Parts: sequence; structure tokens; C-alpha cells
Amino acid sequence: MGNSFEGNVVDTLAQKGVSRREFLRFCTFMAGTLALPASMIPRVARALETVKRPPVVWLEMQDCAGCSESLLRANQPTVAELVLDVLSLNYHETIMTPSGKGAEKSLQDTVQAGGYLTVVEGSIPTKDGGIYCCIAGRTAVDILQEVAANTAAIIAVGACAFYGGWPATPPNPTEAKGVGDVISGVPIVNLSGCPYNVDNLTATVVHYLTFGSLPAMDDLGRPLFAYGRRIHDNCERRAHFDANEFVRAWGDEGHRTGWCLYQMGCKGPVAFQNCPTQRWNEGTSWPVRAGHGWIACAGPKFWEREPYETVPIVGLTPPVTYAPVEEAPAGLSPAAAGAIGAAAGLAVGVAGAVAVRQLTKEGAKEE
Ligand code: SF4
Repeated sequence: MGNSFEGNVVDTLAQKGVSRREFLRFCTFMAGTLALPASMIPRVARALETVKRPPVVWLEMQDCAGCSESLLRANQPTVAELVLDVLSLNYHETIMTPSGKGAEKSLQDTVQAGGYLTVVEGSIPTKDGGIYCCIAGRTAVDILQEVAANTAAIIAVGACAFYGGWPATPPNPTEAKGVGDVISGVPIVNLSGCPYNVDNLTATVVHYLTFGSLPAMDDLGRPLFAYGRRIHDNCERRAHFDANEFVRAWGDEGHRTGWCLYQMGCKGPVAFQNCPTQRWNEGTSWPVRAGHGWIACAGPKFWEREPYETVPIVGLTPPVTYAPVEEAPAGLSPAAAGAIGAAAGLAVGVAGAVAVRQLTKEGAKEE
């Protein structure tokens, strides 16, 4: 028996009362998220109109359920949530309606049929035979190995699933590991973050449906459409950085005014993600907008890093999303640069409007 690929996405959306206009708006949003040119929107729409729905198995392992919360908060637009629904989310033990044997039967039926996508949330404990995370009497390791054997691809959502995350913090009492340390021979997409952004999951699946392949990824397995742009270059506070306007204490005037959080430990200059543009809570906010520095939660071992220490700036690239400062600031002189801890590489002055120097490969890498 094959998995039930019943109907395409657009038909199912129509049954759920989603209009053609809303569907096309969704396709436009997805094309934008995937950084595709507008000319690709019809292709995305055509694919969703014709390609059959792939089943999805969602395994929640050792975690806080924050990534499931992110799934439930899908809202951009509401159709995104429906798309996940119409993707035949056959098994998600935390939120699915069936329970007990009924739930496990859904999993077994899907795995036997094959051809499904697997989403993994949370780390996998391996100590003492993996007994620190058991579902329906089986260890997370055992379940993951069985599900991975027949899946088309694994999408690891959240930092725990790909890197081990918080459960792997030293001394790592459960010997928590990421998916790639337990499974091999299966394509793994890394949608890290704490939590990940559900728009990126939807876009990854839409890419898979549209092009029949996973999106291009960086050397950490992260899709470039979501993790290819530096936070610092797309931050709405960037003009304040370039103008040497920094928050120096929580609640000071600069903080109340919305100045740059670099001196408060913001890791935006060394972090790559689309949060400044994709945002959260119906696209209204993200951590820096809310007044806290970026913690670079899509990078390895971010949980072991001192959150309020400044990061060295190896070089600078110009702002992209927001306008640069209009005039060259008085100067990020070596003294000023030293004061903000940016030091080497920053004393390049401000060429016209912004300091510009391409990051080296090392400098560009997340720590
Ligand atoms: Fe934005 Fe942080 Fe860069 Fe300042 S240091 S511009 S707050 S990303």
C-alpha cells in the first residue's frame, strides 16, 4: 500500500475555504521567502496545483516543544498553516488527535508505505541505550532509525535536532546528539534556530514540491534562502551602528530610542538568518526589534556562548534591507572602534555612507 497522496494542495485548500486569491498570495509569499524572482511565482503555483501532497512524520524528541509551538503559530498567511495540514501531517505525537495505539498505527502505516518527509524536533539521547527519551515504550534512537530508513529526507527543526542544543550542554547527562550524529545516508536539512521559523519549513517543503529537490544549502546544511544573509546587514538598527549610536545599558536612552545593541552582546554581525525580514508574531517582531541582541541561535553551540559579550567584527558588509546612514558619521576611529570592542577591521572609516569590507570566509562563519 502506498501513502495516500490524495489530491493536490490547491484542491485541498479550496475545500478548506481558501480562495484562489489567497492561494496566489501564498505562492507569492513563498517565492519571496525562497528568494525566487517574481517570474517563478507561476511555477510555484503550478506545482502546488498539480503535485500530490507528501505525507509528513513529525518526531518530537528531547526538547521544550518550542518548535511545535512555532508550527502552531504559523500565520503568514494562515494558508501556511493549512499547507502544513494538507501536507498530510500523518504523525505528530504531541498535537495529533489519535492517541495510544491509534497514533502508533498512523506512524507504522506511513513508514511502511514510504516516500514521506520526516521532521525531527529535539535532540536524541544516546546514553544507557537511549532510555532518557521513550515514546510508546521505544527509545528515540530506535524510532528515528526506523523512520529514517524509509524517508525521502529529514528536516531537522530547531538547534536541538541538528546540533544537540540545550540538552547537549556540558556535561550533557543524556549524551544528547543531533540527527546527523545518529543517522547517515539520508539527506538532512538543518532549519536550526531556537526555535526555528515555521515559514522556513513551509518554504523548504514548497521548494521540494516545486522543483523536486531540496533547496541549496550551506556547509551546515542550512538552506541558503533562509540562512544566506547576515543579520547585521538586514537589521533595522544598522543605521545606528554605522552612526556610532549604541545602547550602553539596559533601559538607557539609547535602548529606549532603539539604537544598536552591539555593545549589549548582539551577535548579529556574525550570524546568518532571515529573522529580520521574516520575523515572528504575524511578521510584527523579532528579538532585536523587541530590544534584545541577537544570540545567533542558528549556529553550533550558541548555548555555550556568553550571551552579553561582544563579538569581534572581522569586517563589514553594507546594509541591505534598510537605508544606510545619510552622512558619514564623525568616524568610527580606532579609538571608537576600541571602545565598542570591534577593534581590528572596523577602522576602515565609512566609505561614503557605510564601512565596507568583505568578510573573509572565516570572519563570515558563525562561531
Ligand atoms: Fe542590529 Fe545587532 Fe547589528 Fe546592531 S549589532 S545593527 S542590533 S544586528
